[in-house]
Amino acid sequence: MKTVKRFENLVLKTIKENNLIKKNEKVVVAMSGGKDSTTVAYLLKKFGYNVEALHVNLHMGKWSDDNMDNVKKMCEINKIPLHIFSIKTELGNTICYIKQVVGSETNYKQCTICGILRRWLINKKARSLGAKKLATGHNLDDEAQTALMNLFKGNMMLGINSGPKVGMFEDKMFVTRIKPLYFCEEENVREYSKKMNFPVMYQRCPCVIGAYRHEVRNYLNDMEKKNPKIKGNIVKSFTKLLPELRNEVKSKGLKYCKECGEPSRNDICKACQIRMKIK
Ligand SMILES: [Zn+2]
Repeated sequence: MKTVKRFENLVLKTIKENNLIKKNEKVVVAMSGGKDSTTVAYLLKKFGYNVEALHVNLHMGKWSDDNMDNVKKMCEINKIPLHIFSIKTELGNTICYIKQVVGSETNYKQCTICGILRRWLINKKARSLGAKKLATGHNLDDEAQTALMNLFKGNMMLGINSGPKVGMFEDKMFVTRIKPLYFCEEENVREYSKKMNFPVMYQRCPCVIGAYRHEVRNYLNDMEKKNPKIKGNIVKSFTKLLPELRNEVKSKGLKYCKECGEPSRNDICKACQIRMKIK
């Protein structure tokens, strides 16, 4: 169980060194049902933090049903209060329908649309639950992929939401997002989750096939065979750039969406731009 202990220590060290959570403040974990967010919920509870969970039902058939069942099981076993929200109730349609309609009318990729809407919804719901922090399951691999994708796009500014703690502004509308697995390799999270027998499915989201991120993931995994430190190196060099990138955005100030009132970098937030297309 040496690897288990080592993994848990790395997560705890990430939390402490980056000052992610204060004792007693309420932290809500966005649980998808996957290994990463399940691991985060379990460990925060184990470390003694004031944890609750939220789950968004995307209504993707059996995939969503099974994930929801797993989240319920996990929260019940570990006595974590769980709040479930439905994308159908919140937005009027299933995620598949929204992606079809919006995807054909914009140049947003399907995973981008889903990501924007989920981020928008979980911020709103975490705030309404009184969360001081919103924890997600992003791991080192996710972050290395994102940094590389932004670099390839020629726009590192897109990465200002990276880093173990996201929340450039002290703002009552924006719940600071934290990533306790920021320095954990995906392979190690998978290994830990399997050792702990967490009730999770290890397949990727059925919609992810063909996604650009998938290609970048494979590329990085190939490169890792030649340089085992590659993911950590990408993330560490990017993290060093972050304060400067953020200062540039900070100087422009934070706006609120004219449609929904949520924090936004534009007059109308991306989620509302999408919502308008399906109305
Ligand atoms: Zn909006």
